[in-house]
Amino acid sequence: MALIAAAAAATRTIAGTIRKPIESARSAKAMAAAKKVTADAAAASAPIRAIRDSLLELDRSRRAYHPNPPTMFIGHFGLAFGAKRIAPTVSLGLLFAACQLADLLWPTLLLLGIERVIIEPGNTVVTPLDFVSYPYSHSLLTLGILGMSLGGAYMGLRRAPAAAGATLFLLVLSHWLLDVLTHRPDMPLTPTSRTHVGLGLWNSFWGTVVVEGLLFAVGLAQYLRTTRARSRGGAIVLWSLVAFMVIIYAGNLFSPPPPSATMVAWAAQALWLLVAWAWWADRWRSVDGNARSESRRVYQ
Ligand SMILES: [Zn+2]
Repeated sequence: MALIAAAAAATRTIAGTIRKPIESARSAKAMAAAKKVTADAAAASAPIRAIRDSLLELDRSRRAYHPNPPTMFIGHFGLAFGAKRIAPTVSLGLLFAACQLADLLWPTLLLLGIERVIIEPGNTVVTPLDFVSYPYSHSLLTLGILGMSLGGAYMGLRRAPAAAGATLFLLVLSHWLLDVLTHRPDMPLTPTSRTHVGLGLWNSFWGTVVVEGLLFAVGLAQYLRTTRARSRGGAIVLWSLVAFMVIIYAGNLFSPPPPSATMVAWAAQALWLLVAWAWWADRWRSVDGNARSESRRVYQ
């Protein structure tokens, strides 16, 4: 009888349904050891995670919200500063308006209920905004048409060379390209298309900061090469604008989610202030003689 029972137990062991007591004890020990390793690893990485979280997400909720322009991403402005080199006769204010035309129109379309944004903390690492629908301010087709209109109107009204008009057109269009690089796939091709594109650089905090920071720094360097401040006041107006933009940009990266979409729309209207400030800063500066002849060569 005992023999039969032992044989049956051996068969079950071979079939893998149960383990001998000694094997069970061994596997339980191994599992406990594995758990301990995992727990140790988690405990070891906890401080690193805490630092990262406090820098990016958690601390956001503890900070006070300031109504900054929430879409003020400085990469766009880098392109506008740089464009002064190829279109030195165009005011920096207009170059700013061109590169940010999409974000200048967007808040008004939000307030009119034509476009939509919702606040979803964690939507991407960089912004809590979920751009649900912006078929007019942010589609490739409408920005192409707006760019051509702006460039064409400038050439007609100011009797400006074609390259100045082309620069304005390309700047308006550049907003779409740069937004495609940073946004999730939410950028429409046409107002009615269902295809949305986006490469999602905003999912990487440092990727965003490095790319935008480089664009801004290189563009600003080109602007400084192209223009000279006529007085100390001219330098102050420009550098206070630059400092203001960098502070707002950094503030946006770390500030908590805005309280409502309406607040986002009103705060975003502050971008118009930057256009006016850039126009004012540019009036204090004259275009460097070399830059003027260089751009003439580009135009011809
Ligand atoms: Zn945009």
